[in-house]
Amino acid sequence: MAYKTINPFNNEVVKEYDNATKEDINKTLEIDDKLYHQFKKQPISERAAILHKIADLMRKNEDDLAKTMVLDMGKLIGEAKGEVELCALIADYFADNAENLLKPTPIKSGAGDAWVEKQSTGTIMMVEPWNFPYYQIMRVFAPNFMVGNPMILKHASNTPGSAVAFEKVVNDAGAPEGSLTNLFLSYDQVSDIIADDRIQGVALTGSERGGQSVNKVAGENLKKSTMELGGTDAFIVTSDADIDQVMSVAAKARIYNAGQVCTSSKRFIVADNLYNEFVDRLTKKFAEFKPGDPMDPTTTLAPMSSARAKDKLTEQVNEAVKAGAKVQFGNKPIDLPGQFFMPTILTDIDSKNPAYSKEMFGPVAQVYKAASDEEAIDIANDSNYGLGGIVFSGSKEHGAEVAKQIETGMVFVNTFMFTLPELPFGGVKKSGFGREMSSLGLEAFVNEKLIVAVDKPDLNNLAGGLF
Ligand code: NAP
Repeated sequence: MAYKTINPFNNEVVKEYDNATKEDINKTLEIDDKLYHQFKKQPISERAAILHKIADLMRKNEDDLAKTMVLDMGKLIGEAKGEVELCALIADYFADNAENLLKPTPIKSGAGDAWVEKQSTGTIMMVEPWNFPYYQIMRVFAPNFMVGNPMILKHASNTPGSAVAFEKVVNDAGAPEGSLTNLFLSYDQVSDIIADDRIQGVALTGSERGGQSVNKVAGENLKKSTMELGGTDAFIVTSDADIDQVMSVAAKARIYNAGQVCTSSKRFIVADNLYNEFVDRLTKKFAEFKPGDPMDPTTTLAPMSSARAKDKLTEQVNEAVKAGAKVQFGNKPIDLPGQFFMPTILTDIDSKNPAYSKEMFGPVAQVYKAASDEEAIDIANDSNYGLGGIVFSGSKEHGAEVAKQIETGMVFVNTFMFTLPELPFGGVKKSGFGREMSSLGLEAFVNEKLIVAVDKPDLNNLAGGLF
């Protein structure tokens, strides 16, 4: 069975799940199509009330929901609780704001009364990763539920418990059947669903490889898609930055969620006057992390999500070292049975080193030295990815100047990279396309339908506007 929870803290198989059958899929597609038409007649305020209920239930069941994620993929219990609260925040935001954001947009035109309606389009297939097992679902679910698009979820094979728990909250809140259906699907079944005429959109968050495969199927079937993929985000420290402020954020920006965040700071690019102090202080911070049971609130280093994830990172670090990278700190075994990876700092990585261009999805920091802002920006942009980034500078104005020149979808100046429902989330280059969250995410799968209305035709008045 492909879908199973294996606790990465002790490698115990907690539960296995059967794959969806052809009948399950057909039934879901039928229910969803009916629901799509029903949603069109339902006042949006009714869905807002259900979405608020979902937020309430998430908060009420925070402990259990958090523990389910910890068992599935090993994140720290405190971070898991934070993720549940973030999901509730997102649900509340779209419940409160979607109706207004989806209001028709008037267009000033000589053609008559003209406006764009934002209407639902149909069922959306969402494919999600394990690193934020609820948050990734909520980013697609909350806006599309308000729009009136039913959704089918294919979650990662190692976080089935979280998929079931999220679906249960949606159902318990009174959402109509089909609003979100979790199915344990094979890759081929995902492709079959995408090909079905009732599917009108595909939202994937995951790796470049996963995105390529799923987006190929979406393209072949002319389905609109959003792709939220990987990153090699830079954390730039300019020469005038306050090093104490930098150090209050740097370690967390890499180690949070055991370093398994698409927007983790994977490359620190530090002005040469601050480089030595930065490396020394980051080393001290990394040495303070305490591995242990992620259910224990005093643990500060979680295991990685799976043996596969740890093996891949181990291989990448070995490859980097073979190609000349220096291990400044870490890269030693941790004497615990779980999938722990010691926080590691790599320096002296040249542009030929495979580590220079690959995403390392775990607690490994690469540190580069830059002689000027220009050099730092060049290193940051010398990547096929373009997701996020952080800049620390002497002033927010200086930081914003640097931020403007970075080729990514999001940059944060003098602060941690965070996510909030009103802020758009997404990248450029091989980090994908489209945005989740905010009004942009809300409109990802709407029909922006133009309506032009006049009392009677006046073809003489169109001055060349006729086809
Ligand atoms: P992944 O292997 O691409 O998996 C993500 C999801 O896609 C899983 O549900 C996976 O299913 C599914 N999948 C993969 N190939 C598929 C195919 N051919 N057909 C159908 N489904 C397919 O990604 P991952 O390595 O687990 O996740 C980590 C990656 O996600 C990192 O690169 C990270 O940067 C990125 N990420 C991006 C964002 C963002 O917003 N940009 C956010 C979080 C994570 P299985 O589990 O069954 O293989």
